This record gives sequence, C-alpha cells and structure tokens, in this order.
Amino acid sequence: MAPIEKSTSNEKYDLIILGGGSAGSGASRRAAMYGKKVAVIEKDGKLGGTCVNVGCVPKKLMWHAADMAERLRAAASYGYPDAGALSQEFNWEYFKKKRDAYVHMLNGVYERNFNKEGVEFHDGFASFVDQHTVAVKRRDGTVDHMTADTFYIAVGGRPGIPKDVPGAELGITSDGFFELEHRPKRVCVVGAGYIAVELAGIFHTLGSDVHLMIRHEKVLRTFDPMLQDVLTDWLVHTGVDLHKNTLVTKVEGQKGGPLTVFTNDGKSVEVDCLLWAIGRHPSTESLNLDKIGVKVDEKGDVIVDEFQKTSVDHIYSMGDCAGKYLLTPVAIAAGRRTSNRLYGGPQFKDDKLSYENIPTVVFSHPPCGTVGLTEPEARKKYGDANIKIYKTSFKAMYFGMFNDDSHKEPTSYKVICVGPEEKVVGIHIIGMGSDEMMQGFGVAVRMGCTKEDLDRTVAIHPTSSEELVTLR
Ligand code: FAD
Ligand code: NDP
Repeated sequence: MAPIEKSTSNEKYDLIILGGGSAGSGASRRAAMYGKKVAVIEKDGKLGGTCVNVGCVPKKLMWHAADMAERLRAAASYGYPDAGALSQEFNWEYFKKKRDAYVHMLNGVYERNFNKEGVEFHDGFASFVDQHTVAVKRRDGTVDHMTADTFYIAVGGRPGIPKDVPGAELGITSDGFFELEHRPKRVCVVGAGYIAVELAGIFHTLGSDVHLMIRHEKVLRTFDPMLQDVLTDWLVHTGVDLHKNTLVTKVEGQKGGPLTVFTNDGKSVEVDCLLWAIGRHPSTESLNLDKIGVKVDEKGDVIVDEFQKTSVDHIYSMGDCAGKYLLTPVAIAAGRRTSNRLYGGPQFKDDKLSYENIPTVVFSHPPCGTVGLTEPEARKKYGDANIKIYKTSFKAMYFGMFNDDSHKEPTSYKVICVGPEEKVVGIHIIGMGSDEMMQGFGVAVRMGCTKEDLDRTVAIHPTSSEELVTLR
C-alpha cells in the first residue's frame, strides 16, 4: 500500500511519530502491537531512514564488494593464479543498480510491516503547531493537521559540510557517495570517524587513489588507542595517502570534478571526488520545538532524560536526533523500549535503554569492534592501580598462505579488566572477522563477565577469536 498523502480521519491518534527511520519504525510497530492508533510521518516518501537508504545497508553492500576484491587479490596465494586480475574489473554501475534495487526492496518490506501491524504511514514534512498538533506539509504543497496524545521525535540527522571553507559545496557527503554512478579514480575523504575510514577503505580497496585528510595524528580518536594506532598505520601501509594534522582551506573546480583541494600546509591535491565525513547534524531546526517548549542543546540534539522524555511530558525523542550513540540498533531499541514502557503494561513500567556497554563495529579494512570503556576511560574511572590490560597481536591463519608478507593484515586484541575479580570493562579488537566476533563478546561484557569467565570458556580452534579466551 502506498503512503497516505491526505489525512483520512479527524480522529486523534494515540501516538504520532515524526520520522520513519530506524527509531520511528521500531517504536511505531511496537506501539501498534499493543493496540494503539499510530501514525508515522516521513518526509522522504519511503521508509527506513538513513540506515536503509543512505547508511548501514548500502554501505555494508559496498564493503562486501570491497571485501570481494581483497579475496580475489588473495586468491593467487591459495592456488588460483589468475583470480587477482578480476579484482580490477569491479563494475560499479552494475553493482549500484543491484544495490539500489535491494534498498528499494527493503523500503517495501518496511511498508508491508507497517500495513501488517496497522501503522499509518503519512508522506509529508512534519512540524509542530502546538503541543498536541503537527502540521504535515504534503508533496502537493497542501498542509494537514494531525493531533495525538503522545509524540516521538525521531527525525534523525544529515551529514554536515564545513561552512567556512570556500568551495566546500563542490564536495559530496555520504549521501552523495550512494549516488555515484562510477568509481572516481582519485578521491579525497575528509574526516577521521566511522564514515571517513569506512568510505575511504571502500574506495581504496576498489582501486581508487585515496587521500584521507585528518585534523590530528590518528583516525578514530574516540576509540581505544590500540585501534587508532593499528588502523592508522595500516591505512598508510596499504597506500592510502594519509594527510595528518591537515585542514582543508579551499576547494576549486566543478561539481563532479576535477577538483583542487587546498590545505593548511600550503599544498593541494587534484581529485575527481571530494567527500566530507566530518560528523552529522540533527534535523531538528524546522520542527518549531522552541514554540512548544521542547529543549535542544547547542548542537540541536533533543535533550531527553533516561526514559527518552523531552522537556514536555508527552513528547519523547530517540535515535540520532537525541544525540547519543548514533547507531541503528540503539535507535530501534530506544524506540521499542519507550513504546513498551508507555503501552506495554505494568511489566514494562521501568523499561528503558541502557546506554552502557553498547557494542559497535567500524567496517574498516580490517574491521574494528569495541564494547565498553577504552583504556584511558577505564584508567580515569577506576585508577591505574585497579586496571589490568591483556593484549595480543598476531597474523590470522588465513594470511599464513600469503605469498607476500606485506599483504598480511594485522590483528590486535585488548581486554581491559578491573579490580581483583578482573571484571571485564572493555574489549577492543581489530582484524579480519572482528565485525562478526564482536556481538558475542558484547553479550559477555553486558552480563558482567570476568577474565576468569573468558579463560574458562573452551576455545574454538582454529579461529582468531580463540585468542580472546586464551590471553595471558
Ligand atoms: P534516521 O534513520 O535518519 O530517520 C529519520 C527519518 O526522519 C528520516 O527518514 C528523515 O527523512 C525523516 N525526517 C526528518 N525530518 C522530518 C520531518 N520534519 N518530518 C518528517 N520526516 C522527517 N549505524 C549502525 O548501527 N551500523 C552501521 O553500519 C551504520 N552505518 C552507517 C553508514 C552511514 C554512511 C551513515 C550515514 C550512518 C550509518 N549508521 C550506522 C548510523 C545509522 O544509520 C543511524 O544511527 C540510524 O539510521 C538512526 O536512525 P534514526 O531513526 O534516528 O534516524
Ligand atoms: P563521527 O562523529 O564518527 O566522526 C567525524 C570526525 O570527523 C570527528 O570525530 C572529527 O575527528 C572529524 N571532524 C570533525 N569536524 C571536522 C572538520 N571540520 N574537518 C575535518 N575533520 C573533522 O561522524 P561520522 O560522520 O563519521 O559518522 C556519524 C555517525 O554515524 C558516527 O558517529 C556513528 O555513530 C554513525 N555511523 C556508524 C557506523 C557503524 O556503526 N559502522 C558507520 C557510519 C556511521 P577528529 O576530532 O579526530 O578530527
């Protein structure tokens, strides 16, 4: 069924959600499951939000494509002498069409799930008129008003570009990455976080010449130093042109390239594509939040309490626009738990998402996984005397067959323990397979595991992950 383009009833809703992304979808379906009358207003005319359309899903498919190129290059070492040449033949155009079709299929799955659960999907841009009414601007320019007892603000965010760099608008963001029809030969990625290292890694692995410009010495500076060190060194080792302590001062050229990117060291690089990956901004500025008393912080993130409640009692907010852990499963969990608590009956009266020990993976090459405190955070919280660190670094067996030593990716693991019982408060891993390994170790840390629990777990051999239960 297509999204609703005109309001069909004057009836009040139990719940209206602004935004049909990860948070809005999870929260709405859960509320509808409890028999509530729920509407989701989504401005893009399709469901799934950032994750499905311009985030996790198409990104992961590109990561798989890049992974495939790496395997093809490795194949000669495994007795397939001619496979390596195929890695040069990635057909970006062909793959983009398939990727887009997959995303489109998921949009349909989201819509069908809404229909199944009885959630109304309204196509339009929502903003508050008063504390119980939203105006929905439809595609044809008409405006409907809809009222509800409760609202969730789940409008997510969008990528930023610098305001103070002349020519910055000649670059693209992660949204533009997913519109590229061809692989640019020369790319400049600016930023040092998740998106910068993931997209720089994809471009580089698929054969583009990549400049990565970072403001400091290391990438992923909010992660454990071990992950920063290993990944930064490996990026350089594999030929990414890493410009440290570098700021872009000016961009010249034409949209679509070629572009000249000038930097604060007086140098410049010529590229076909400039991609800004310098953080995201919440889409809260056009919602009239100040008019209805919903407070936001200086970044525009909605201020919420531990139950996702805003400064107005019946208005809640979750997901990226609430500014904490910008991750899809966090948005979904916060949304579902809020609906559980409000509509699920007494057994859920205290339900809320704990923001502690959230596991996460960066789909870099190789991938990183992390849960809990970094070493500096643990030392600060518990004191040096109470911390014990277990570490290992090795080359995974997969690389044992490699003809060329310089292609053997690093693997490094760190377990951070506290107190005499050696409670594990942080696990940080980088290396092949870390993306799939992390979830299980996330469960262990969440359950409060100790080093002894890890030691008492029988290893699975031969794997890389067994090293985490045999650390000395
Ligand atoms: P969104 O998914 O952004 O949904 C908000 C929705 O609200 C949007 O559809 C928007 O159109 C709509 N909207 C905005 N304003 C209005 C309005 N006024 N009226 C109506 N509708 C409105 N997370 C992971 O966990 N793993 C990953 O691998 C991962 N990869 C990522 C890769 C990239 C390139 C990016 C950009 C993000 C990635 N993320 C990843 C983060 C993840 O996508 C977000 O954390 C998640 O989508 C947030 O969900 P949300 O519902 O809060 O916001
Ligand atoms: P991040 O906040 O992760 O990283 C942005 C980084 O860019 C900053 O940490 C900063 O690093 C650098 N930066 C900021 N401003 C500038 C500037 N003006 N010039 C140069 N560099 C700058 O944001 P992303 O955009 O990478 O991603 C947004 C969020 O989306 C992530 O935080 C994550 O939550 C989510 N995401 C999750 C993924 C996953 O789960 N795998 C994948 C992709 C995104 P420094 O201070 O070191 O300069």
